[in-house]
Amino acid sequence: MSDDIRQRIGLRPVVNVSGTMTSLGASIVVPEAIKAMTEILPQFVEVNDLQRKASALIARLTGAEAGFVTASCASGISLAVAGAITGPNLLAIERLPDVAPEKNEVIVQMGHVVSYGAPVDQSIRLAGGKAVMIGQATSTHRFHMEQAINEKTAAAVFVVSHHVVNYGLLHLTEFVEIAHAKGVPVIVDAASEYDLKLFLAQGADIALYSGHKFLGGPTSGIVAGKKELVRNAFLQNMGIGRGMKVGKESIVGVMAALEAWEKRDHAGIRERETGYLNLWKRTLDGRPGITALIEPDPTNNPLDRMRVIVSPPDAHITAWDLAAALGRGNPPVIVRDHEVEHHYFYLDPCNLHPGQEVIVANRLAEELDKARASNEIIATPLEDRSRHRFDGMLRWPD
Ligand SMILES: *Cc1c(COP(=O)(O)O)cnc(C)c1O
Repeated sequence: MSDDIRQRIGLRPVVNVSGTMTSLGASIVVPEAIKAMTEILPQFVEVNDLQRKASALIARLTGAEAGFVTASCASGISLAVAGAITGPNLLAIERLPDVAPEKNEVIVQMGHVVSYGAPVDQSIRLAGGKAVMIGQATSTHRFHMEQAINEKTAAAVFVVSHHVVNYGLLHLTEFVEIAHAKGVPVIVDAASEYDLKLFLAQGADIALYSGHKFLGGPTSGIVAGKKELVRNAFLQNMGIGRGMKVGKESIVGVMAALEAWEKRDHAGIRERETGYLNLWKRTLDGRPGITALIEPDPTNNPLDRMRVIVSPPDAHITAWDLAAALGRGNPPVIVRDHEVEHHYFYLDPCNLHPGQEVIVANRLAEELDKARASNEIIATPLEDRSRHRFDGMLRWPD
């Protein structure tokens, strides 16, 4: 019997060099969180008291006045928006997503309306909010925001992500200044950010994080910010938040992950990841048609990734066919390929178990050797990718 649960239940033992992906199980949960979850599971607790403990811990680590744990960062957006719409009105909370009176407009820059696996604006609409998109995809000016705010404006949402347009938009400090001048609270989606203090320090009223990304906690979301706004978001657990609830295990799991985060040897981890990147660079340098670059994280998280640029005439394969071959292999190696149409993908070192970096290097070398030995260039049409993108999903569960 395999001691890998994935093989016992017939799942492919994937190696994740793509980063923190919900579709692959997010991140490696830290031992402290696993231990805390195991300890609490057989016990009863008063969950709102447990959330009070979480609030104090979240406050200490983020600089917020209060906080709580929910199912995900996406839930956090919905709950924070809902709280801004209803305030502490329990009847209004029960009525959501129906809203009356209509103070439910939520301002968001067009260049921030991205998909993190689902659309940002949907998490606003789920809460009864009306997403008011300002500016254009690549430009927001002060006047766009100033003139969008009116008596129906409930909140403004700001997204921090490598997915968002990274030029021409309002910076958080300016976004906050304009919102606060008209008494509008600012909710920041900082799902994948390492810095637990920065966005609140820059004036955000609520900052939202994923518990299962860099923190290495269980699947969960963290809501942190001004006490009244956080409370109004928390009260949604008697309404739309019910379907987004977390159990005791996720709350203690995230608390343990937060405490572990404080003590984590960040420099040591960075050094280990740099070792992986250097190994991959040595493996790839000098191969025909391959350029391997070590690049910093686009939102300034303390993390580097490797960009692997593939030139099909020399490598004899396209970037997307190489990514697909790695994903089909044994073991499957899943790379970060959301920009692959530009002939590159990334290798993200942060979710590897020690030793897997060698598997990644060997699989890259194998596939590249195989491609070079092929007389023809392995090049499936890029259009096939988009045409067939959802085939598997639409056939699920078969
Ligand atoms: C991952 C992500 C989310 C979703 O976070 P979950 O906790 O998985 O719901 C939302 N926004 C951004 C910017 C993300 O990167």
